[in-house]
Amino acid sequence: MDAQLSITTIMHHAEMVAGSKEIVSRMNDGTIHRYTYADAFLRARQLANTLEELAIGAEARVGTLAWNDYRHFELHYAIPCSGRICHTINPKLFPEQIKFIINDAEDEALFIDPQFIPLLESMSKELPSVRHWIALCSQSELPISSLPNLQSYENLISRQSSEFDWPEFDEKRASGLCYTSGTTGNPKGVLGNHRSIVLHGMAQNMASSVGLTSEDVVMPLVPMFHVNAWGMPYNAPMAGAKLVLPGPHVADAESMVALVNSERVTFSLAVPTLWSGINSYLNESGASLPSLKRGVIGGAAGALSLYEDMDRHGVTLENGWGMTELSPMGSYNRSLGWHTRMSDSSGGQQRLKSGRPLFGMQMRIVDEDGNSLPHDGKTTGVLEVRAPWACQSYFGGTQQHTWFSTGDVATLDPNGYMQITDRVKDVIKSGGEWISSIEIENAIMSHPGVREAVVIGVSHEHWSERPLLIVVPEDLEPELTAEALLTFLQGKVPKWWIPNACEFVDELPHTATGKVSKKSLREVYDHYQWPGA
Ligand code: AMP
Repeated sequence: MDAQLSITTIMHHAEMVAGSKEIVSRMNDGTIHRYTYADAFLRARQLANTLEELAIGAEARVGTLAWNDYRHFELHYAIPCSGRICHTINPKLFPEQIKFIINDAEDEALFIDPQFIPLLESMSKELPSVRHWIALCSQSELPISSLPNLQSYENLISRQSSEFDWPEFDEKRASGLCYTSGTTGNPKGVLGNHRSIVLHGMAQNMASSVGLTSEDVVMPLVPMFHVNAWGMPYNAPMAGAKLVLPGPHVADAESMVALVNSERVTFSLAVPTLWSGINSYLNESGASLPSLKRGVIGGAAGALSLYEDMDRHGVTLENGWGMTELSPMGSYNRSLGWHTRMSDSSGGQQRLKSGRPLFGMQMRIVDEDGNSLPHDGKTTGVLEVRAPWACQSYFGGTQQHTWFSTGDVATLDPNGYMQITDRVKDVIKSGGEWISSIEIENAIMSHPGVREAVVIGVSHEHWSERPLLIVVPEDLEPELTAEALLTFLQGKVPKWWIPNACEFVDELPHTATGKVSKKSLREVYDHYQWPGA
């Protein structure tokens, strides 16, 4: 049949199979909001009626600056299922970038968590496309603001009917817009459509990939403004799983552990820094996570020591690789029976791989001239991908990708496992040969005195570039020396990869999506004087 793949079908499916399943949200003030999928989708209908009343055009971009909670969930359905485009904006970007993004998308309306109102007040006069400003709160919580005619979400939707005739449209109709964090130049918009969201969800929910079921309780720590919390507002209801939305305070490990335990969360998703915070909290407090069985670690490479520590806490971390341009997931390293039978060292190396491509995702590695390279698990090349949920061109752009060049450097092995070794722009080229910063970082992270570590390439008179190790030591390790750390690396990475120096810092700079910003570090160490030079 010519049935279209639309986000509306996810909604109808969840209403049918999981109407009484809960969506639990932890709000900014720590209170818990609880309702069901059935409730959520009734309110999504009221919201769709609101969008009609506000005369927001078909295919108009509707921006959100919001944390992971139930109102943001409702926006993820009402906007696309009524034919408009849900534009999730990362509030942690620089104000200039946020202004650029809203103007580039020409958002007609903005739905804003009250915390971000001051940020928008500072730029509202320079956002000519925005006709409606809606605060995600009740009428009594509505702050006094200079935003023109700021309205309360609850007040707007309460006036509306909870009946709405969802339109049918072509599955290739645009549904969501998300900008890349843009470490170089302006951020670029990635437009997803209904079909790409549904196919991505189906591929992610296959048993050999993320494979959620209706018994899962899913809590994404990764924000909904960063590529739909890696798909969860769509994929959890697709699987009929309970959803726990943790609100703004995801870096507060104590409250996150409490939420996991009170809601019996079975599955979570986070960047390595957040997993590391949870691990440290569990180690220090003696708390446990009896219900949490699995978690995705992605967005950046995690260290083996973190996987192993979380094993001891009963949580199997699985590496997931993706990009905003891939809505976002490309590959997944599901922990399988044969992995557990491997020896400790090869099992460890296996876990660090970025996983197999999801069904529907094609992958290849190429050299500088675009020639395909062998899948031998050793040869590194630039990773290119192709999938029905990969971005064909950037928003407003003209270049059409047939294969999308990810900007990541990777190996592919004969079993189809891909492993990221670097970003193209982070690659360290020493004497004409590539050094993998990720592998050195992983090796040094197994030193007990190291809390966080990063390796960047710094210019060197003789070798053109050499690796510099930058370390945040654990509090209890005041005696840690650069020499001890560099000696520790011997035998763990090729001899010529061992960094020429090590610097200690109190903290590392992070990007708006929680990754260590190597770009900022390269700027700081631009004129670095190598010891003895
Ligand atoms: P973003 O579009 O902000 O999600 O960033 C995508 C980039 O993050 C990728 O191109 C990779 O460089 C990096 N990345 C994402 N997941 C992983 C992972 N599991 N391991 C290593 N790097 C990753």
